[in-house]
Amino acid sequence: AAKQAGGARLARFDDSLRAQQSERARIAAGLRQGLADGSLFLDYQPVVDPATGRMTGVEALMRWRRGDELVPPVVFIPVAEQTGLIGQVGLVALRLACARGADWYRRHGVYVTVNVSTHQLRDPDFADTVLGVLAETGMPGAGLVLEITESVLIDAADTPVLGTLREHGIRIAIDDFGTGYSSLAYLRRLPVDILKIDRSFIDDVSFTRAILELARSQDLVTVAEGVETASQAAQLRDLRCDLVQGYHFGRPGRPETIESLMRESSATAA
Ligand code: C2E
Ligand code: MG
Ligand code: MG
Ligand code: MG
Repeated sequence: AAKQAGGARLARFDDSLRAQQSERARIAAGLRQGLADGSLFLDYQPVVDPATGRMTGVEALMRWRRGDELVPPVVFIPVAEQTGLIGQVGLVALRLACARGADWYRRHGVYVTVNVSTHQLRDPDFADTVLGVLAETGMPGAGLVLEITESVLIDAADTPVLGTLREHGIRIAIDDFGTGYSSLAYLRRLPVDILKIDRSFIDDVSFTRAILELARSQDLVTVAEGVETASQAAQLRDLRCDLVQGYHFGRPGRPETIESLMRESSATAA
């Protein structure tokens, strides 16, 4: 009986594995098509200086429309990574972000950030690819920030790629800081410019304060993610966090919408 129950469990496991695999295959096929037909696109979310309210940057976030539904990146990015499609998806993100961003940077001084996956960084041609996109879009290196999570950064720390990118004025941000397992010793050797505190820490004032102090000691620009309320925003301003990002300041939106906010933002500051 025990053996039978085990067999049934295995069969169920098999079924769910098969279901998972076919869902993954369906997503991968859709992504391949999306790469060709424009159903993969970017929304942009403001990054704001909490002291002045001014938009300093925007984060490019990939969106995928499959029929009537918008598939969230937490669903399709992992599949893109597992199937090797992330190289092409990431390149589309870079191209679109730099094409828009070149103009935004020139006219408003607003930089654009693009998320980068581990597979992209492992590609020995990655630095050349990025520099090629800058050349092709007329984007200066100073207008581009690459967002990389802790574990991926540690992986790439011993390769020349980050150094090459930084020599061209591109800045590197640690994304979702605090969620990885890196020791603080790593922070000293990582070639980074910006530290983004993960939104899961937004209400933990003492942790946030400690991270901000640590970041300042390393001359890193600090960004708090996931700011949803006015009181969180006030708190972060009091803690002198350099920049903030979250629904309170603006949800990710279409480039036209973000651009009009950008125009208002630079008009107010002027
Ligand atoms: P991330 O890079 O940490 O991006 C921030 C995520 O937090 C975005 O989710 C954004 O919509 C969400 N967010 C912003 N403000 C708030 C807030 O106030 N409250 C809450 N609850 N959430 C907020 P999104 O767009 O669903 O993206 C999820 C993740 O997918 C990103 O996390 C990033 O890791 C990945 N991703 C998105 N686009 C790309 C891409 O082009 N390439 C790669 N490799 N990864 C991407
Ligand atoms: Mg990010
Ligand atoms: Mg993040
Ligand atoms: Mg995050």
